[in-house]
Formats: sequence, C-alpha cells, structure tokens
Amino acid sequence: MANNPYESAMTQLKRAAKIINLEPYILDILKRPVRILETGIPVKMDDGSTKIFQAYRVQYNDARGPFKGGIRFHPSADLDEVKALAFWMVIKCAVVNVPFGGSKGGITVEPKSLSLRELQQLSRGWVRAFARYLGPKKDVPAPDVYTNPTIMGWMADEFGQVAGEWQPAAFTGKPIALGGSQGRTEATGHGGFLVVEALIKKLNLNKERTTVAVQGFGNVGFYVAKKLHDAGYSVIALSDSKGGILDKRNHGMDPENVMRSKKEKGLIGGCYCAGMVCDCENYQKISNAELLEMEVDILIPAALENVITAENAGRIKAKAIVEMANGPTTPEADEILRQKKIVVVPDVLANAGGVTVSYFEWVQNNTGEAWKRAEVLDKLKPIMENSFEEIWGVSIEKKIDLRTAAFALALQRIAEAIKARGL
Ligand code: GLU
Repeated sequence: MANNPYESAMTQLKRAAKIINLEPYILDILKRPVRILETGIPVKMDDGSTKIFQAYRVQYNDARGPFKGGIRFHPSADLDEVKALAFWMVIKCAVVNVPFGGSKGGITVEPKSLSLRELQQLSRGWVRAFARYLGPKKDVPAPDVYTNPTIMGWMADEFGQVAGEWQPAAFTGKPIALGGSQGRTEATGHGGFLVVEALIKKLNLNKERTTVAVQGFGNVGFYVAKKLHDAGYSVIALSDSKGGILDKRNHGMDPENVMRSKKEKGLIGGCYCAGMVCDCENYQKISNAELLEMEVDILIPAALENVITAENAGRIKAKAIVEMANGPTTPEADEILRQKKIVVVPDVLANAGGVTVSYFEWVQNNTGEAWKRAEVLDKLKPIMENSFEEIWGVSIEKKIDLRTAAFALALQRIAEAIKARGL
C-alpha cells in the first residue's frame, strides 16, 4: 500500500472535519494550499559541473497569520511530502495557538554528499528563488530535517541582501549571533519532554519505572531522549538511520554518551559509553524495525513519516506513542492502534515546541529583545502543558483519539480566522 503523506493528511483532515461539522466551504479551502512554489536551483559544483536541484515552498494557509514552517533537505523530499508537511504546520500552529499559518519548504538532495560550499550555494539559491514570497509578515522559514542554524544564518543573510535590509524576523532557528533565540535548538525535544511528563500523569506511570525507545537521533531525537534520561526515565533503545542499540541495564543509556560515540564512530551501534568507560559488548544491536516493535512504555518516533503503517502497527507493544517526527503514523495504522488502545500523542502537539520557540524568536526579533534560555523554556512550559490538557479534555469529552481532538481544536481556530476575515 502506497503511503502518500498528503493523502494521509487529507484523511486526517476529513475525519476531524466530520466530527466538528466543519462548514463544507472551510473544508474545501483547507483541501488545497494557497500557493505552490516550485523551481530548479542551479549550483556550481566543486568539480566545475553545474547541477540543478528540485526545490519547493508550499504556502498552505495564512488565515491565522504569516505562513510558517521549516525547510527540509532530503533525497526523498517531493511535492506531496512538502504539501503534507505544510498542512500539518497549519494545524500545529493552531494547536499551540501561535499567530501563524503554515508552510513548508524542501530541496530534493542528499545534503551529506555536498561540500560546505555547495551546501551554502544551494541554501542561498533557495532564498533567491522564493524571496519575493518570504518575509517576517509573509512567510517565515525555519530548520527541519537536515537543515540547521548554520543554514538559517546563510539564508537570512541572503534574504537581507535581496531585500536590501537586514530582517532577522524573516527566518527562525538562526545562530544566536544573528538574533537566534536561546533554547531554540533544544525546543522541539524539550516540548516533547513536557508532553511525556503530562502524559505519564494521565496514564499513572512512574517515571523511574518508565521505559522509552526513541527512533531517530537528529536534533529532535537527541534532545527528547537526553531530557527524558536526565529526568529519570529509562531510555533503553535508540537508533539513527543506520540502525539502533538496545540496553536494558542501569536505567538504559545516557544519550549524551551515545552522541559522543556516534561522533567518534560515525553511527549508532559503535560502542555504548558511560562516562569514559565504553561497553562495546553488552548492548544489543537492533534494527529500526525492531525498535518500533519493542516492549516499552513509550515509543517515540523522531525521524521521518510513514514508519508506523498497517504492516507493523499490529505488532507495536508500547503503551503510548509520542510522535516527535511529522507524520510517522499512517491513518490505517492509527485505526489499528485505536483498536489496541495504544495512546498516540500526535505530532501536531508533541513536536510543537519547535515552532513555539520559533514564534518567540520572531517576537524577540520584532521587538529587539533577547530573552535568556530559562525565560524561553519557562514560557514554553505552560503552552505545551495547556495545549496537552485542552486536547486531552476534547478527546475525553468527544470520545475521540488525541489526533482527531487536536485537529478538531485547531480546525475550530482556523475556521474562526477564515470567517473573521470575511473570505
Ligand atoms: N520544522 C519544525 C516543525 O516541523 C519547526 C518549524 C518552525 O519552527 O517554523 O515543526
């Protein structure tokens, strides 16, 4: 079965629209993006040849405020994926009630195959291609899979040059030196951690006895795993795109040590290190597929979409899934998980800490302020906790799963904005 992320997104939309009796014209507006931008970006490669890279920006809806969403550099990035991700940004911003619409960008590229110079040329090319549609009050990009603050710094610089003035609020997730916000890099992981803390209270779990498996060891997977470990949870399984490790001893692994060994050895599955002592024998190597089906309390997919499907959902043994990736669960898998009474905290809530701190960065850039890390994380906490409570409440009241509840809440807010504009 083909798992087209855009079809999945539209299935989720229609399901929630039905439950809240969304007006058909609002549903029709949300079934398509406002604007699709697509082009080829030429890059002069180090070997003297010129390569053209396929690039996208999908501006999905801006009823609630400027378009907002990350840019993904990935070999499998395509239009349907970017459309789905842009739509999920619309819902996500409404879930946490930040005054943004939703968009997403992408370039079809294996960024690891580029030199730093080629990567910078490509990043600047993306901005030049779409600049007239970007800006603090139009569309504000940010990092996503395989993009980072360094890339946002180049992009913000390019935008300033094209616009003829420095506009820090045009991009978020920038380096601190260029007006980036303290706490932005860890924000998505921190938000996920706050969601897990709220969830275990509802499930009556004790964190010292709660086991966690995290798929994905990028910025999001690393920080959520680290924060859970530091708070006393047992992170017993971790993986990256090449494979994973399992360690059930002594409250699991310290992600900081795993990161160190990943940096030294290049991939997860080298050695598991505690402090200076490395253990290359006692941990067990596992595949990404095995990680998803492990017997743990909380499973955290934090990599890419479509990893929990009709094919493997029946074998999932976790009590709860906290989606830190965007779109990791297909609608067919959702149905199976519902029947198995596995609680799924949806991406549009669980990973919304990132865009929330992007909003804080935008506010700081617009006002010329620079908040301290503690202030940023203190402001994030009530937003994540209250959003979780609200959605949990809707799910109980309407007897629906958390994803549908989150969509229902978001759709009501979006519909209100569309109506208020008199469209
Ligand atoms: N790419 C992140 C996401 O999917 C962050 C988006 C942003 O900060 O605008 O939520």
